[in-house]
Amino acid sequence: MERLATCACGELRVTCSGEPEKVSLCHCPACQKRTGSAFGIAAFFGRDHVRIEGPSRSFERPSDSGFPVLLHFCPDCGSTVFWEPRRKPDMIAVGVGSFADPTFPAPSQAVYAEFRHPWVGEIG
Ligand SMILES: [Zn+2]
Ligand SMILES: [Zn+2]
Repeated sequence: MERLATCACGELRVTCSGEPEKVSLCHCPACQKRTGSAFGIAAFFGRDHVRIEGPSRSFERPSDSGFPVLLHFCPDCGSTVFWEPRRKPDMIAVGVGSFADPTFPAPSQAVYAEFRHPWVGEIG
């Protein structure tokens, strides 16, 4: 099983093999800023299951865990496609929206509920 995540323009491509180790939905402000949406969803894959092609730039931000997060985005269209949580150095996180695949496995957890927009989960 291979799935392809891309930026908006398609230049930055991340091919993931096998099933994600974990899929996590996050309501935190940093994920809201990353996505421009009300929450972010990360699919975690082992590094050896991820193949990255195309140009990218990176941006590091701190996190509440004390370990920074290194986000990688397309230099042309600006979409963040994947990131490296320094707390989990053997993992690559890929934005689930970058797959644009409604059959992608659903999140198994949601975190930072205190930042959840109250309508999330009620409209759909
Ligand atoms: Zn792009
Ligand atoms: Zn978050």
